[in-house]
Amino acid sequence: MGRILIAIDGPAGAGKSTAARLLAERLGYTYIDTGAMYRALTLLVIRNNIHWENEKKIIPLFEKQKITQKGEKTFIDDENVSTEIRTNRVSRAVSIVCRHPEVRKRMVELQRELAQSAGIVMDGRDIGTVVLRNAELKLFLTASEEARAKRRMKDLEALGKPLPLAEVQQNIRNRDRLDSTRKIAPLKQADDAIVVDNTDLPIDEEIEMLVRMAKDKEIEHNGNR
Ligand code: C5P
Repeated sequence: MGRILIAIDGPAGAGKSTAARLLAERLGYTYIDTGAMYRALTLLVIRNNIHWENEKKIIPLFEKQKITQKGEKTFIDDENVSTEIRTNRVSRAVSIVCRHPEVRKRMVELQRELAQSAGIVMDGRDIGTVVLRNAELKLFLTASEEARAKRRMKDLEALGKPLPLAEVQQNIRNRDRLDSTRKIAPLKQADDAIVVDNTDLPIDEEIEMLVRMAKDKEIEHNGNR
């Protein structure tokens, strides 16, 4: 069967990571979480006491330390930072750090390197529009703001870092605003993306639907080779 590239975009808390991980598992694909990469860089910015707006000081961090990402695991050099990158101090800064043009250029290069062979599910904000413009299947996942905030709240509880719903909702709203209004690679639906609103869609039904779409695309891709 011809393996394909799958791009998943959407606003914060739309369940992209969960859907991408489960879809990759079902297909035997590799899952890459690009949000985690921007979060790891943001953690480095915070640890080095660099101002979020100071792109000149942020760029050398790419040379100093190596960010790697695969599925649920994110590393800075050999340190597993998968939990720390989910904290609120990172969530508050990430949408500022990732706005800088050179930051995005470097990240897109890293992400394309990770996706060199097919059989990839990658999620983020600009995957279908920029990083994997050639992806065979593009999905745009979304849900009501309330549903998204509740999901993020549960994630934070599970990580042992609970926050009140109002605070989580505020962070989601802020990030969506910053992410969709930035000049470079804003959050937006690719023209050829399929929109999936999962507000009232149970996760197992959603995954079945996405697996079917992916398998159809695999068959189509096989025919085109
Ligand atoms: O996916 P997650 O919510 O963890 O992403 C954190 C932040 O990283 C987003 O709010 C956005 O500012 C940024 N991001 C981005 N482009 C991507 C993935 C994430 O700008 N491809």
